[in-house]
Amino acid sequence: MSILNYIDTHCHLDGEEFQNDRDAVVQRAREAGCQAIFLPAIDLKTCHTVLDTCRHYPGYCFPMLGLHPEEVRADWQEQLLAIKELLTSSLIPHPSPIAIGEIGLDYYWSREFEQEQLLAFEEQVRWSVETRLPLMIHCRKAQNELVTILKKYAGDLPGGVFHCFTGNAQEARQLLDFPQFVLGIGGVLTFKKSHLPETLAEAVPLDRIVLETDAPYMAPVPMRGQRNESAYIRHVITRMAEAYGVSEDVICQQTTATAARVFGGLPPTADAARV
Ligand SMILES: [Zn+2]
Repeated sequence: MSILNYIDTHCHLDGEEFQNDRDAVVQRAREAGCQAIFLPAIDLKTCHTVLDTCRHYPGYCFPMLGLHPEEVRADWQEQLLAIKELLTSSLIPHPSPIAIGEIGLDYYWSREFEQEQLLAFEEQVRWSVETRLPLMIHCRKAQNELVTILKKYAGDLPGGVFHCFTGNAQEARQLLDFPQFVLGIGGVLTFKKSHLPETLAEAVPLDRIVLETDAPYMAPVPMRGQRNESAYIRHVITRMAEAYGVSEDVICQQTTATAARVFGGLPPTADAARV
């Protein structure tokens, strides 16, 4: 069996689902060939847990700070103020944030804060322009609204990831029209009824993809329904290699190079030298 070498670009490793065995989860990730794990925050509280977790695994876990659309509520402006302060001040001490996220729009469960979501997203998009940090974007049932906002800043944005992409070829092309952006692909690729393998092969060049778990969610087959973790990405790699008709090594090399490109000249394994 070849040794894999990949990056998990989206993992909620700070979550309480991992509080009892986080060291073992990280150990299994390392053994499976995962070279780095990127942790997204979803609100102010998790900005702190993400930073704490990354401090615990220096040179391996890297923080992203932002306000998730499902966490946008009446207090969104206070949240943003505090997160912005953390983002700007933590640009200096270790661990430095590598992206703004996860942010976006989500109208799947509720449109109660639709207007606030739009405003919070746009403000954080502007942070990306200011700080030159890429965006980790979450989008559900809101792609047109999302694209409309991003287009206003397209020429000024450093880039980013449309995380957990599960759409069709047309939706993929609409997102890939933003040349600095890529799609985050995870466990859904392995689901029996998923059209994603065909969609990727048809509409998504292999150099426009990064790998992710979205752990603890979205575990791939044959772990579907269980708690997900970074070591399980090997099942996604296997399915992606089949979809593109290339080796697993090629999938790893391409997605790692893409992650390095999007997240500002990492490879993150070399990042210990930077901080
Ligand atoms: Zn997430």
